[in-house]
Amino acid sequence: MQECDFKSVKIADYDALVVGSGFAGSVVARELAERRGARVLILEKRGHIGGNMYDEIDGSGVLVHRYGPHIFHTNDRRAFDYVRRFTEWRDYEHEVLADWHGIYIPVPFNKNSMEAVFGTKKAASLIGKLVATFGDERKVTINELRGIEDPELAEIADFVYENVFLHYTQKQWGVTPEEVDPSVTARVPVFVSRDNRYFQDAYQGMPRDGYTALFERMLDHPGIDVCLGVDAESVLGLEFEAGGENAPLEGIDVKGVPFAGPIVYTGPLDELFLARFGRLPYRSLDFRYETHDCDRMLPCGTVNFTVSEDYTRITEFKHLTGQVNDTTTIMKEYPHAYDDPRRQTPYYAIINEENNAHYDRYVQLTRKLDNFYLIGRLAEYRYYNMDQIISRALDLADELCRP
Ligand code: FAD
Ligand code: UDP
Repeated sequence: MQECDFKSVKIADYDALVVGSGFAGSVVARELAERRGARVLILEKRGHIGGNMYDEIDGSGVLVHRYGPHIFHTNDRRAFDYVRRFTEWRDYEHEVLADWHGIYIPVPFNKNSMEAVFGTKKAASLIGKLVATFGDERKVTINELRGIEDPELAEIADFVYENVFLHYTQKQWGVTPEEVDPSVTARVPVFVSRDNRYFQDAYQGMPRDGYTALFERMLDHPGIDVCLGVDAESVLGLEFEAGGENAPLEGIDVKGVPFAGPIVYTGPLDELFLARFGRLPYRSLDFRYETHDCDRMLPCGTVNFTVSEDYTRITEFKHLTGQVNDTTTIMKEYPHAYDDPRRQTPYYAIINEENNAHYDRYVQLTRKLDNFYLIGRLAEYRYYNMDQIISRALDLADELCRP
């Protein structure tokens, strides 16, 4: 990867411009450089590459994730094969326990959780009912479960709602589970199974040397230059058609030079337009780290606090990375509203009809620019996992590399 100083960059030297160096930006940049021989300039506002996947060694020698714990899981063979090009992988299957009044129960809530909560005898009868109603080894969303009228199943539904979803969701989103889009809680269904894994995808793991090393290799191509610490909003000149605040963009300048090549934008769309229609709502997080003088603190990678505490979960990175070290570092996640873009990071789009329409107003401003591409969790205002972004980036690269 060639890091360069934006002040000395000659824009005419580049065929494509990419804003952001997470998976969305980095995969497209690599593909354009490799498959089209393009000279690609990446602008990244942070002081490092890798987007939210960025990891680094902390003061006590532990490899930690700086923007939330990232576990790779997918059923998409193409996405997995793609990232395997750049690193060896460590086999890792994530498990999560909920701290329920000091008792650990597996999440997603499953047959083992039922036994821990209701005892073996009662659990056996409830499991029988669940299997008869939904089938064995089936995943059932909390909303589906709450829709069943049988009194015994209603008891499980109420229990799971109250003890797994309610408090956690209120912390994470600031509202009740009924008020979030159903797709959000559906990510963590009740699982009629003894499988304690958080994900059941065919391919799961962690990059052996960490995500930052993966990104360094992905961006290590003579056609790619990266400018760190450059906020695209302050260097892109937007030219609009005449006609007021809804008039669409007709061109983008970089350093005063109109840029005709592909511009791949992966940041928040409202920021590009200086929030002219108001800020898009997001949830943000604070991460608090603690280092402890012992090998391991937690029984598994993540413990969710579903009935207590004001943080949602604690992650112990050594479970994820397999790192051997005398000390261990854990991280607590404190969710909050996103109301100060200068100091906070937009982590989760708040999906609902109103916000989607708000986002669409911004998209309409870009509709006439045929060299401008929105891709990524921020730019598309969606709740995407890494593998989905890699897949979308490969699709976009195919489109851009078509003769
Ligand atoms: P990002 O990684 O956010 O990258 C966008 C980049 O653009 C950033 O580097 C940003 O600094 C830069 N940028 C933004 N605006 C500008 C600008 N104006 N100028 C220049 N640069 C700019 N997914 C999983 O599959 N597994 C997990 O376990 C998982 N855990 C997660 C935990 C948390 C707490 C969060 C928030 C997300 C998690 N994800 C997980 C999702 C994952 O982070 C995203 O799918 C992934 O980051 C999307 O990549 P991206 O490139 O779209 O965005
Ligand atoms: N959730 C919950 N309790 C849990 C785990 C998840 O209520 O123990 C809900 C919560 O609303 C959360 C959503 O399910 O935001 C999705 O959880 P996931 O673990 O997928 O969130 P992420 O890892 O993306 O933050």
